[in-house]
Amino acid sequence: MGAVKKQFCEYLAKHNLKVTRQREIILEAFLQSPSHLSAEELYLRLRKEHPNIGYATVYRTMKLLAECGIAAQRHFGDRQTRYEPSTSEDHHYHLICESCGQIVEFEDERIEQLLQQVASAHQFHLNHQRLELYGLCPKCQTR
Ligand SMILES: [Zn+2]
Ligand SMILES: [Zn+2]
Repeated sequence: MGAVKKQFCEYLAKHNLKVTRQREIILEAFLQSPSHLSAEELYLRLRKEHPNIGYATVYRTMKLLAECGIAAQRHFGDRQTRYEPSTSEDHHYHLICESCGQIVEFEDERIEQLLQQVASAHQFHLNHQRLELYGLCPKCQTR
């Protein structure tokens, strides 16, 4: 938490923005929440305890967190921008249920190696990798 908060404070200072209590609360809530929340979902989670924090503030703060590299933006085909900590960005992949929207993360060394091989076969240096598989989760298959 310490290093992340420092990173955020430095970014705000560099852009002449203030470190407000609200921004701190949103950062903490983001880091403690389950992954893949949209700004709206985070706002709804915060609302009970912090009714003074508006949706626009959450929305803008999440954009700032993405700009300074703490949060990674994700799009899973439903037009929502979702956020997850960028430390977890690289080495996990996503299964997305097209019916209920459930998102499952998985890791697989073999896929990682395969992607590396594909990249180097095309003389690419791999910076990021992203793999999203769309389908139906077990629950939705039985409906
Ligand atoms: Zn489902
Ligand atoms: Zn994820």
